[in-house]
Amino acid sequence: IVRMQQLNKHFGSLHVLKNIDMHITPGEVVVVIGASGSGKSTLIRCINGLEEFQSGSLEVDGNELLPNGKSGQALQTIRTEVGMVFQQFNLFPHLSVIDNVTLAPMKVRGWNRSDALEAAKRLLDRVGIADQADKYPSQLSGGQQQRVALARALAMEPRLMLFDEPTSALDPEMIGEVLDAMRELAKEGMTMVIVTHEMGFAREVADRVVFIHQGEITEEGPPEQLFDKPRHERTQSFLARVL
Ligand code: ATP
Ligand code: MG
Repeated sequence: IVRMQQLNKHFGSLHVLKNIDMHITPGEVVVVIGASGSGKSTLIRCINGLEEFQSGSLEVDGNELLPNGKSGQALQTIRTEVGMVFQQFNLFPHLSVIDNVTLAPMKVRGWNRSDALEAAKRLLDRVGIADQADKYPSQLSGGQQQRVALARALAMEPRLMLFDEPTSALDPEMIGEVLDAMRELAKEGMTMVIVTHEMGFAREVADRVVFIHQGEITEEGPPEQLFDKPRHERTQSFLARVL
């Protein structure tokens, strides 16, 4: 569902992503790890066209994104097919929980209100916050807000979900409830790319772990291999610091 070949990305003179090859098949859960500034966020932001790249090729669910922002219609298509959850929940503060979840399906997909409401209620139930539907984001805990953000992304029936450190802004006692919801999603077969520092979670849900160092994929493999028998010295020293 994602085919990234020899992708390069620069921010001015900074070469942030270097010849990245990344192929993701439907249903796969890929966890991206690496030090701060290594390019993890930039990498996943390229996948839904939030960042332009300068060279290489990138196809997402059959839509080709072109270098230097020349993607045109494919960009719109990809944005409706790829859901994203950020570290900061980015909910609409002036909308209730249920309206946060129904907005995009109604606006972008053209669903009528009753269909959108029904789907939204089901999703809120699925992430365990059906009872919070009429509250506003500011009235919820961080863990609840992040689960609303997850429900909102799922409401678009995405083909692929991207997560950029979804639990990093949460108090420790709320991390578990968000990881639980993500774990469920993985079990249901959702294709997911997850940037996280939760190594225990990564080991448990990942089909494949990708380690990025200074904009390059240094090493990747199944979690047992990458965490227990890392081949590269850089992977070893990174893991020694975080595990
Ligand atoms: P973290 O773990 O801290 O979130 P990261 O691996 O997600 O780090 P990125 O945010 O992808 O790292 O950043 C990679 C590099 O690109 C960093 O050196 C960063 O300073 C730089 N960078 C990121 N966004 C921009 C931008 N909009 N303009 C210029 N440089 C940027
Ligand atoms: Mg980041």
